[in-house]
Amino acid sequence: MDISFDTLIQLQGVDSEIAVVNAEIEAIPQKIKDIDSEIKATEAVVSESKDKLAGNQKKRREMESEVKSLREQTAKYKRQLNDVKTNKEYSTLLKEIEETDHRVAKIEEDILNEMIAADDIEKEIKSALKKQAEEEGRLKSEQDRILAEQKETEKRKAALEKIRTALLPRIPPDQLSLYQRIARKTAGIALSPVTDDFCSICQLRVRPQMLDDLWAMKEIITCEACGRILYHRKPAAEADPEGPVDDPNRKDDSSSD
Ligand SMILES: [Zn+2]
Repeated sequence: MDISFDTLIQLQGVDSEIAVVNAEIEAIPQKIKDIDSEIKATEAVVSESKDKLAGNQKKRREMESEVKSLREQTAKYKRQLNDVKTNKEYSTLLKEIEETDHRVAKIEEDILNEMIAADDIEKEIKSALKKQAEEEGRLKSEQDRILAEQKETEKRKAALEKIRTALLPRIPPDQLSLYQRIARKTAGIALSPVTDDFCSICQLRVRPQMLDDLWAMKEIITCEACGRILYHRKPAAEADPEGPVDDPNRKDDSSSD
């Protein structure tokens, strides 16, 4: 029985393309997830700044209430000044008032500094929000682009599957099952063209007797090293003058496993 090399070669080409397409489709969920993480990261920058502002405001409220109670304390001391009996008590109270005023002044200075810091934090929030809006827009359209690409890839896959389905009945069952058996063991590359007497995938030199058998195309010859189905590829110069050689593997010349 003649070996349907042409069909096997076409099948190999289609299967290789399907493998590429499958890998592209499988990579999509992770890509979408990565972009989601990037979006979340820009949101995190905003909420970090907002937390910082909330902390600043809380600190200011605490200091303001401390100032209030210190001022009440001073007012109380001032009222007590009228009731003191001795000079010593009087000067002690004055000293207390002075120290309290001093503390109030210090805290008010801190409040002012916190207010200046709050201005900076507000600017920070504004710029983080602006950046978030820009990034989110960019990232979401990137996701849309990936999803649109996914649709195209799925269409391409469906078209390839259709070609594959049409090819299968053209291959004798024993040749097809051999192809499939080898493909399972070789990451999907069951065929290897012989170039300059070498298996082009594993680079083993093909024995002369085997080369003769290969030319005869009467039986399937597998590579003694990698186990792939060998076929003879005509150099471009010797290509069939009646038409282009339909060799889907051609573009994969540089590939190897
Ligand atoms: Zn080989």
